[in-house]
Amino acid sequence: MAGPEQGTRHPQLTDTLVARRRLAGRLRRTPLIASPSLTARHGAAVHLKCEHQQITGAFKLRGATNAVLALPPDQRGKGVTAASTGNHGRALAHAARAAGIPCIVCMSALVPANKVEAIEALGAEARIVGLSQDDAQVEVDRLVAEEGMIALPPFDHADIIAGQGTLGLEMLEELPEAETLLVPLSGGGLIAGVAMAAKTVKPSIRVVGISMQRGAAMHDSLKAGHPVPVEELPTLADSLGGGIGLDNRHSFAMVRDLVDEVLLVSEEEIAGAIRHAYAEERQVIEGAAAVGIAALLTAPHPDWGVTIALLSGGNIDMTLHQRIVAGENPDLLAERQAQLTEAARHA
Ligand SMILES: *Cc1c(COP(=O)(O)O)cnc(C)c1O
Repeated sequence: MAGPEQGTRHPQLTDTLVARRRLAGRLRRTPLIASPSLTARHGAAVHLKCEHQQITGAFKLRGATNAVLALPPDQRGKGVTAASTGNHGRALAHAARAAGIPCIVCMSALVPANKVEAIEALGAEARIVGLSQDDAQVEVDRLVAEEGMIALPPFDHADIIAGQGTLGLEMLEELPEAETLLVPLSGGGLIAGVAMAAKTVKPSIRVVGISMQRGAAMHDSLKAGHPVPVEELPTLADSLGGGIGLDNRHSFAMVRDLVDEVLLVSEEEIAGAIRHAYAEERQVIEGAAAVGIAALLTAPHPDWGVTIALLSGGNIDMTLHQRIVAGENPDLLAERQAQLTEAARHA
């Protein structure tokens, strides 16, 4: 095996067992619910793991809490930092406050006010720097180099992956007969942890990663055989956007070695799945969380058998959600292009 990950120790089941003990009593045990409507279509039982009901609205609290609590006592006081405006930023803010340590979430001036407020409401400092995510990352690197803060990235970190792995154990405890797990896939921290833990306790389990067609960084990297950059495009699955890091240490190799299948779904299929979750299951989920349902609705998968779709988060803009449940299939890329054209006309 060649590549940058050579010689790297990836997280293992023992790390997830330690994570589970650390997280005990700090997180919500989210429900696993049966889906009669998806079961009827699929021909075998389908269950939904409702992790969108987790505190802060996404599974990312598992990894962030584990990584914060794993810090040696002498490092905690320096605080933690990340450049994420989304679910990881929220999770880190919550985990840091719960542990009583400082947290700075760096973001660009283009981030909408409601996202900045969400981070501040969780007790972290929202530091506004520059006009891009890259500028925000420069500030994270500076905080690490000059102020000794600890950077905790969203997916490519052993303690983050081990923390997400607790979901793999939980799903198999709740439904031991499960044969297939459908897991949303972006940087791969979630699916790496889930696949590692689940396959250790049940080697026959099939783990399927699902991304959106628009900017599927892990899918393209697996095809290339190494991490490749992708163009980030507006998508309903905004929490799945972004690259996997060209110097990826853990998640690329773990996904390559542990995941059975990677599927892509379209924007229209994601919208249909958000609608289905609302109308049939009474669940409000974000686009990233809808990809498993989208795959089940799009094509028959007789080989999957008893299936759990992991609903990974619920942080969707409610105006967008209302448009979708009213029957619209928003094309966010076309909408952005129209905005840019309009702005250019008025310039
Ligand atoms: C981060 C995130 C994902 C993807 O997790 P990775 O570890 O980056 O693959 C999926 N769904 C939601 C809601 C997320 O916030």
